[in-house]
Amino acid sequence: MHTRLIICLDGIDPEYLEKSSMPTLDDLGRRGWRTLGQGAMPSVTNVNNVSLVTGGPPALHGITANYYYDRRTGQSVYMESAGFILAPTMFERASAHGRRSMVITAKDKLRTLIARGASEVLSAESPPPWVVEAVGAPPPILSVEVNHWLFRAAIAACKRQPPDLLYLTLTDFAQHKYAPEAEQSQANLAALDSLLADLLNAGPEFSVVATADHGMRAKTRGLDLGQLLAQAGIPCEAIPIIKDRYVVHHQNLGGSAYVYLDNMAQQDEAVALLKAEPGVESVWARDAAAEAFQLHPDRIGDLFVLATEEAVFGALPAAREAVSVRSHGCLHTRSVPIIACGPGIPRRPFAYNYQAASWIQW
Ligand SMILES: [Zn+2]
Repeated sequence: MHTRLIICLDGIDPEYLEKSSMPTLDDLGRRGWRTLGQGAMPSVTNVNNVSLVTGGPPALHGITANYYYDRRTGQSVYMESAGFILAPTMFERASAHGRRSMVITAKDKLRTLIARGASEVLSAESPPPWVVEAVGAPPPILSVEVNHWLFRAAIAACKRQPPDLLYLTLTDFAQHKYAPEAEQSQANLAALDSLLADLLNAGPEFSVVATADHGMRAKTRGLDLGQLLAQAGIPCEAIPIIKDRYVVHHQNLGGSAYVYLDNMAQQDEAVALLKAEPGVESVWARDAAAEAFQLHPDRIGDLFVLATEEAVFGALPAAREAVSVRSHGCLHTRSVPIIACGPGIPRRPFAYNYQAASWIQW
């Protein structure tokens, strides 16, 4: 039995691996290879999870944020269902060849978004009875321990009936909460590494690609782009790309934003104002943004605004606020580790995390 295992270590900035001891992961890298790759932009969870399962950037699959503003209706919708994904998933490809695939994830919102075509989908939010019987009830979704439970569920699944393809995608609660050098983070990563060893010994032969969806940075400068522009007489909708129903850990503050202007005649003025604002690293008009970052032009704003390393955008009491939050979404959280080992894995390291399943042939 041979299982292709893709692991998304959510929010594992390369710095987390540098500051922690992870012998199992190190060993995989030694036997295979290890590199620093790039994720898709914006560097947020859903965008990159969909990139991982479809094998391409947002230009291919259409998921450009957690949240989508429909200018025609003035309505905002969460892109949480598979209907928004414009490309086939690796699970659909496996299924077309009669192969069994499985997705294991913490949150139901990811389950409904990414798992199209999977033979079996398991979330910590609504686990099937056989998993609860095998490894106990899951801890809360917003906990450090939920990722440990996901690994135990994967081990149980591989002992029960190993799938041909397993996508194990974790949650980044711990990284939003703890810096790489924090004891709690080091203990968490040691536990995950030991669970990875158990998974690799669970039965089947594995080909493994372990990577992350995005990195993580401590953010201190908050900007409310909507207020900044409105105060200058430029009405708009500013959509932080991280806006999410699960708000506890990042307060909806993210490292980039899409701006939809009420009046396109004000575009140059808006760009100039934003570029002059400390905390704004770069501002891209729609077409330039779509080209530079391989975004889907129909699903982004008139402007794509990227934050500096220490800044975040979101809805705040004032246009400029001091904040203290760990978050992502900008270019500084785009670098991710990629570690791969096993039969069929190409010798040449991947440049992008979304190549994680590109080598799989059925
Ligand atoms: Zn994430």
